[in-house]
Amino acid sequence: MVKITALDTFDVRFPTSLDHDGSDAMNPDPDYSAAYVVLRTDSPDGLSGYGLVFTIGRGNDVQTAALAALEHMVVGRPIEDIVDRLGDFARELNGDSQLRWLGPEKGVMHMAIGAVINAAWDLASRRARKPLWRFIADMTPEQLVGQIDFRYLTDALSPAQALAILREAEPHKQARIAQLETEGYPAYTTSPGWLGYSDEKMLRLARQAVQDGFRTIKLKVGLRLEDDIRRCRLARATVGPDIAIAVDANQRWDVTTAIEWLKPLESVGLAWVEEPTSPDDVLGHAAIRRAVAPTPISTGEHGQNRVMFKQFLQAGAVDLIQIDAARVGGVNENLAILLLAAHFGVRVFPHAGGVGLCELVQHLAMADFVAITGKKEDRAIEYVDHLHEHFVDPVRIVRGRYMAPTAPGFSAQMHPDSVSDHLFPDGLVWRELSLTVDD
Ligand SMILES: [Mg+2]
Repeated sequence: MVKITALDTFDVRFPTSLDHDGSDAMNPDPDYSAAYVVLRTDSPDGLSGYGLVFTIGRGNDVQTAALAALEHMVVGRPIEDIVDRLGDFARELNGDSQLRWLGPEKGVMHMAIGAVINAAWDLASRRARKPLWRFIADMTPEQLVGQIDFRYLTDALSPAQALAILREAEPHKQARIAQLETEGYPAYTTSPGWLGYSDEKMLRLARQAVQDGFRTIKLKVGLRLEDDIRRCRLARATVGPDIAIAVDANQRWDVTTAIEWLKPLESVGLAWVEEPTSPDDVLGHAAIRRAVAPTPISTGEHGQNRVMFKQFLQAGAVDLIQIDAARVGGVNENLAILLLAAHFGVRVFPHAGGVGLCELVQHLAMADFVAITGKKEDRAIEYVDHLHEHFVDPVRIVRGRYMAPTAPGFSAQMHPDSVSDHLFPDGLVWRELSLTVDD
């Protein structure tokens, strides 16, 4: 009998703030970081499960401590007890009453729970020798519904309604798998748009993105209106009318500010406006959406759980949503959110970038295409070309599209040297930086 022998955690940080990579209106100096977790087993082949929470520097130690707090739920258990009962496992982690007090189902503890659940899905799909998207797609509609905690959802989506969506997809799965493996899944890029970049750098990267085959680019906005007007107009003039331009305010505005700010940007023709205000403000998003229509409004990367997504959809507060692989309660809760979006007919543009978020979320989008919606050409997964070299199975982007992963697992495993070199504060990279600063 194979058992889980350890839950190992690592505080991994990359000094990205040195180049303003990842800078936006609310986060001027992010150091992209991963609270990284490994579920080790005593399997003779070295089978392990990998997961991570993305953070942006300070606080990654807090996030890592939250991961370690889940050790008692995992270590010593037979792996069958976890990987053959992933729905029950997720409910158990969310149900620890003493840890639940820290949420419930939100914030640091919920993100830690999500990463351990994701590591369990990684373990399960590695054991099945399938990439995670395929592992999910090969589940029956009944098995998929069994993964989801419908508590707090049934006023919007019942298990029977979810089952009906999944059964409708069932006969088309094999054709969709073949289509996905041939065509890949559309990507859009945020690489040109970081707020700390000069106009020259932004335009050079925008031209490069179009040459590389991307059909949508995204620019960060929200610091100074005159800069946003200039940058958006320059970008539009550079990429032409056929490339979609989205903007992302990263929660910068009050509701009234958002409405005033977005009026002069209307003429640019925006594909969507992301996170205009607080990620918890359902009615605020609805008010902005009404005021700036037909400009599409979006949120979700900081959506803390399925209940928030339910409310945004019920209130008609958004035109599209972002999901994030490492913020909510893992694969299980993201399946609930994808089914909610399908039920309400709202498109999903998954959030990525950061550390490992592209690697993770591609699997969820692809599983959605095969097993839930059958749609991919009217949506796209975010792509940022940072830090992929640290992953054992990095994303493959060809002509602006994510190619379907073929290696078993959830693509979360990092190279051991990348982990040890970037350990905070004693890894090689951080020791060298502190020597530079001391000089
Ligand atoms: Mg965003």
